[in-house]
Amino acid sequence: MNKTIIRVENLIIAFGNFRAVDGISFEVSKGEIFGFLGANGAGKTTTIRALCGILNPTSGRVFVNGKDVAAATSVLKPHIGYMSQKFTLYPDLTVYENMDLAGSLYGLDRETVRRRSAELFDFIGLKNIPKGPVKHLSGGVKQMIALASSILHDPELLFLDEPTAGTSPQTRTSFWNLIRQLAAKGKTVFVTTHYMDEAEYCGRIVLMQRGRILALGTPEELKERYFPVRPKELTFCVHKQQETAQKIKRENWGLVSVFGSKLRVYVSNQTAFENFCRNSRDIFTCHDVPPSLDDVFLKAISGDK
Ligand code: ATP
Repeated sequence: MNKTIIRVENLIIAFGNFRAVDGISFEVSKGEIFGFLGANGAGKTTTIRALCGILNPTSGRVFVNGKDVAAATSVLKPHIGYMSQKFTLYPDLTVYENMDLAGSLYGLDRETVRRRSAELFDFIGLKNIPKGPVKHLSGGVKQMIALASSILHDPELLFLDEPTAGTSPQTRTSFWNLIRQLAAKGKTVFVTTHYMDEAEYCGRIVLMQRGRILALGTPEELKERYFPVRPKELTFCVHKQQETAQKIKRENWGLVSVFGSKLRVYVSNQTAFENFCRNSRDIFTCHDVPPSLDDVFLKAISGDK
């Protein structure tokens, strides 16, 4: 049976009158890659900060390993790794100095830090350890080292807040390989991202908007839930995509997005839409396409189920 490692019960975090997190509940099982998705300001970082014990809930409760985080932060600290969006590495320190500093924060002795650092440099594929300040390294290398420093103490639960933001596609791929390897070793990874393609790598995902959970499930479950009818993709004989998009919106036949010379339509009035397609001289093809998580997100934020 899956063991619950995180339990969040009706969590509210308010800054003054503003609720950054507005009554969310969910559970995460040990060994899961759990994705937390949402636009800027959705409340992802604030939730992570509560899960790590950095912020106290305004109301509601957060449990890690069955312990109330607000009451047991110091007990839980050795079990948790946190790679924040910023400030994970000290830019003026070298790679080794950063690792030493991270080790001292977790109370590790120098020998353990050196041994673990060597293991982790191997894990992230860092062969020649740069000697200068980390501020001179590329964004991708910095992110890898930040990951290594956040798991120096070998935590069972890892929070990664937008770990791949601003990095190259190659770094993103390598980073996700590392995440998968960590999960394969039984680590639980709670990760936020703006990239919907990355969300496909998660076991389950949450879609957040303005502090609330819009949807929670596996990528496949969400696609099924939001798209019992598959999205349609339209191609055109002539440049009529904008005009057609306007018509579909005006007639309320569904949501529509323009992708270059194609339209993607999340059809709500199937009969009317199909009639229109059959009779249109401008449409070259109309066929079903598998929904992506981008499609799910667009539909979820539109309030459509
Ligand atoms: P991003 O992807 O931009 O990091 P996010 O989903 O992580 O977004 P949060 O950083 O959790 O969002 O912020 C949620 C909301 O709470 C935002 O409107 C933010 O401005 C606000 N907020 C966060 N921290 C504070 C704070 N200390 N005081 C006041 N408002 C805050």
